[in-house]
Amino acid sequence: MSKIVDEWVSRLKGKLAPVGEMSHWERMAAALRLERTDYVPVAPELDYWQITYAGYSHQEIYNDVDKTTDACIKTWADLRLDAIWMYVDISHQIENFIPPEKRSEHFIHRGEKDYLMFKPIARTLDEAIALYETRAYEKYVNDSRAVTHYTPHMLQLLEFQEKMDRQVPVIVGFATPTNYAETIVEVQNFQRWMITEPEKTRHYLELCLKERLESLEFYRDFAAKNGCQFVCLFGGARTWGPKHLDQFGYVDRIFAEKVKDVFPYVFWHHCGRNLPRALELIRDMPGVKGIQYDMPYYGQDIEWPQWCGQVAELLKGKSCAMNSPTTQMACHGTADEVRNAVREFIDSTLPHTTACVMPGCEVDSFSPVENVKAMVEAARSRPIK
Ligand SMILES: [Zn+2]
Repeated sequence: MSKIVDEWVSRLKGKLAPVGEMSHWERMAAALRLERTDYVPVAPELDYWQITYAGYSHQEIYNDVDKTTDACIKTWADLRLDAIWMYVDISHQIENFIPPEKRSEHFIHRGEKDYLMFKPIARTLDEAIALYETRAYEKYVNDSRAVTHYTPHMLQLLEFQEKMDRQVPVIVGFATPTNYAETIVEVQNFQRWMITEPEKTRHYLELCLKERLESLEFYRDFAAKNGCQFVCLFGGARTWGPKHLDQFGYVDRIFAEKVKDVFPYVFWHHCGRNLPRALELIRDMPGVKGIQYDMPYYGQDIEWPQWCGQVAELLKGKSCAMNSPTTQMACHGTADEVRNAVREFIDSTLPHTTACVMPGCEVDSFSPVENVKAMVEAARSRPIK
């Protein structure tokens, strides 16, 4: 039971004007089931942005669960997006690998609106393997932010979701084995070792997979059992070529297959420069109902509407296409540019599959409020016939 949640529920329940014919929950669920919706759902990944929007600094919410939850609900109440993204930062993901006295060396708060920066926690592949083999992540978990911040914040938002009778889904995000493998050591090191030490790399990836599969017990008991149905998997492997995807990508596939047994609505976050081969592999993963994709890979000279159309064709009959505007444009573009990019995405996607307005990566904390509002307006101005 949370006071902040009850305050919001009493302020909002039964008092909100409907948006369209469907509830936010129904709209998101239908798009992921590839069924017709009244409007294209809008669910930008606002985790850091909503903290700033609500008037808090990141330092202020870092150890304050109530303020973190307050920011997410306030943003939703004002903008009426089709989902609430929980706030997630890198310390939630890896603080439990680091002994408490060393944590301050690894996480850096710059400005009030900046992302939390971090330094990798292993310098060599052997060090990274040792972290897993000694189960370091278990040893340091109890006072880590996974337990003191991420979990209570998630539970508050799920309490809000349930007390509001599932009008709006809460999106719980967590990382896949390849994402962990890269984050612990830094992407460029990992890429080198895939080539120089393929056997050891495979062993490391399988340790990452094992830990992720064990963590699913937590997500079953704490997220699913408290009503969570919508999950975003933060993928890694974003800069891998086709050969490495075929050689090592199987760990993510095995993970996705297990996630699907726990959560009905799973989609994949695949930001950066996207290779069509990577999108195909994600599309074919069991249980992955949508892909939050981003921009075309380097060297592929293609206009925005053509790129969106090409991906939509690739996802036809299999996944919901989630994109637009680009994360860059959401931050640096004008509201008119944002509206155009969203309309072009919708118009070039809907002939092939369902769409969800959601920039390819998390919306930057510095992105103007008008640009986020422009995403909502553009989608709501295009009823689907
Ligand atoms: Zn991203």
